[in-house]
Amino acid sequence: MRNNFTYQGSAAHIVFGEGRSREAGAWIEKLGCSRALVLSTPQQRADAEALAERLGPLAAGVFAGAVMHTPVEVTAKAMEAVNQSGADCVVSLGGGSTTGLGKAIAYRTDLPQVVIPTTYAGSEVTPILGQTEGGRKTTVRHPSILPEVVIYDPELTLGLPVGMSVTSALNAMAHAVEALYAQDRNPISSLMAKEGLSAFKTSLPTIIGTPRDREARAEALYGAWLSGTVLGAVSMALHHKICHTLGGTFDTPHAETHAIMLPHTAAYNAAAVPDLLEPVARTFGGSVGGGLWDFAKSLGAPLALKDLGLSQADLDRTAAIATENPYWNPRPIDRQSIRALLQDAWEGNRPTN
Ligand code: NAD
Repeated sequence: MRNNFTYQGSAAHIVFGEGRSREAGAWIEKLGCSRALVLSTPQQRADAEALAERLGPLAAGVFAGAVMHTPVEVTAKAMEAVNQSGADCVVSLGGGSTTGLGKAIAYRTDLPQVVIPTTYAGSEVTPILGQTEGGRKTTVRHPSILPEVVIYDPELTLGLPVGMSVTSALNAMAHAVEALYAQDRNPISSLMAKEGLSAFKTSLPTIIGTPRDREARAEALYGAWLSGTVLGAVSMALHHKICHTLGGTFDTPHAETHAIMLPHTAAYNAAAVPDLLEPVARTFGGSVGGGLWDFAKSLGAPLALKDLGLSQADLDRTAAIATENPYWNPRPIDRQSIRALLQDAWEGNRPTN
């Protein structure tokens, strides 16, 4: 692997540091823009309006309608706001849902994006857009989707509720774990993945006890950047396939689904590539899946698919869909073994592997 790999660095500008979201205006100008449409979810409207106010004449308006899974109807409404306001760039303030809307606009218009992430999902550093139309989720990968500037300001994550902090971090950790065995991995992606996992291992236990701990918040955001970057750089496998199937078919909540599945998919693949996943066992202790499960449990993360309202029949369907057009995976998959893995995740069992 050290003597045979392909590596491409990301073209994005990364700005990291407490208080640095106040530099958003300067970055808009550096991009050659002067009218930014500020995007958010309805829940973060007040923060988006405050940001627009700070941007002054650089703000073209606020569109606070972003929702999970980027439905094309919402993007159509946001496109009206883009056209009416004469915006020449977007500023996305929020988690993966808001970033998704900014990406959907950029994909249609090529407008530059400044993203200010407030969760750990990692979408801001990928050229990937997942959108839904008529209940169907499709994914596109295109250079215009990659945000030009990402400003990581830990101050904006101090109020991220603990539950959401934990599940969105486990979502990011799933990107890092799958990057370790990705078919197209390279030495840099593996370094970033290991560093990302270790940043979450250090920071999350502090965050659940002291949510406003600035150092831990910065460390977790650093982990989010690294884990998101590897998601954008290499291909994902079984874990992401199962989570997309569950989310796409049963509309299960994104971050929680990742959080529950991660120990099980990692344990499944650890049987085939123990050496590649050894850093996970070393970081979290014990076996790969067991260590991840213990860590998730210690943080109060959801552990069982049955708690998301799924039935056993839903597991049959998931196993069938996930094995129909499988992604490449380091361990061969078949319907029966994936059904067994789903059963364990449904019951919330601790993986032994
Ligand atoms: P989210 O963006 O849906 O946010 C969840 C809720 O938390 C929202 O109501 C949001 O307004 C609120 N919130 C966000 N930050 C907050 C803060 N600091 N304080 C208080 N409330 C806050 O959740 P998410 O997990 O960040 O993103 C999930 C979405 O991202 C999914 O649609 C998923 O498909 C997508 N995603 C995409 C990629 C990609 O590369 N394309 C990667 C990861 C996730």
